[in-house]
Amino acid sequence: MIVILKNNHNREQLESLINWLQEKGISIHTSIGDAHTILGLVGDTSKLDIDLIAALDIVEDVRRVQEPYKNANRKFHPEDTVIRVRNTQVGGGNLTIMAGPCSVESEEQVVAIAKAVKASGATMLRGGAFKPRTSPYSFQGLGARGIEYLKAAREETGLPIVTELMDLSQLPLFDDVDVIQIGARNMQNFDLLKAVGHQPKPVMIKRGMSATYEEWLMSAEYVMASGNENVILCERGIRTFESYTRNTLDLACIPVLRQLTHLPVVVDPSHATGKYWLVDPLAMGAVATGADGLLIEVHNDPAHALCDGPQSLKPEAFDALAKKLLKLHETVRTLEG
Ligand code: PEP
Ligand code: MN
Repeated sequence: MIVILKNNHNREQLESLINWLQEKGISIHTSIGDAHTILGLVGDTSKLDIDLIAALDIVEDVRRVQEPYKNANRKFHPEDTVIRVRNTQVGGGNLTIMAGPCSVESEEQVVAIAKAVKASGATMLRGGAFKPRTSPYSFQGLGARGIEYLKAAREETGLPIVTELMDLSQLPLFDDVDVIQIGARNMQNFDLLKAVGHQPKPVMIKRGMSATYEEWLMSAEYVMASGNENVILCERGIRTFESYTRNTLDLACIPVLRQLTHLPVVVDPSHATGKYWLVDPLAMGAVATGADGLLIEVHNDPAHALCDGPQSLKPEAFDALAKKLLKLHETVRTLEG
């Protein structure tokens, strides 16, 4: 971090700033120029409050030269993180395909979809039991019962289960869930992030609707700083001026995050577009761009789905897509060496 001081600072103010920083374990390189005095801060600056320093009377400007996230940073952990989830692995060159209905609607429904997606090559079953709905009058999910039905579907198919945690009070119900999803709306629910950081299950953090890469990585950092290193990032589209699609899928995040972090990145083309016929091309685009996996909504009767029918693939369409994704993934791996 670099701190540029105002010209009119006095020695006392400078000494008190330097002492304060040194007490925090930071070493200071001072460079006194004609126009400005510049302090180079060396050490773990991730815990320093940049806004607090910028607000000091004698400070003109502060610039970070190091990212504020440490655990999630590729610089301190060059190898890809590979997360074991039961019999499958996320990251490290594997293609994870999470599929299932937006909402668990009944045991029969989720078991039937689980069997179909498993036969097509899905590696995890994803379904919502607790649903974050924009309207309080929309179906809110089956709650605890939904989790029981997901477990029944796992029992039948062997597929690990991924489901969303919306509130701290629900955490005890997630003891037997394989991956805990934190939804876009909760990406910056810091108490929730700390709580899932204090337990060992893998956590998939969906990108907030208007979150920058850094904000998203800071959310991962919350989980990791609390002790849980098993974090998956999920791009699900961001809010832009475009209203034709539900959101705008940001595929650039894949190569960018590949540089910034060692954590696996999966892409959700269903919520990103809101339209079933856009899921296929964008899922293919995500694999071509290097995604570690996909999250795809599949429903046996989209027209009557209780949530997100318009973006759900029928099992037959998912089957055709999954086959293409696996082939493309192989090709990409060959080309990339
Ligand atoms: C979901 O995955 O079902 C969901 C609600 O997605 P998001 O949090 O990305 O809106
Ligand atoms: Mn959905």
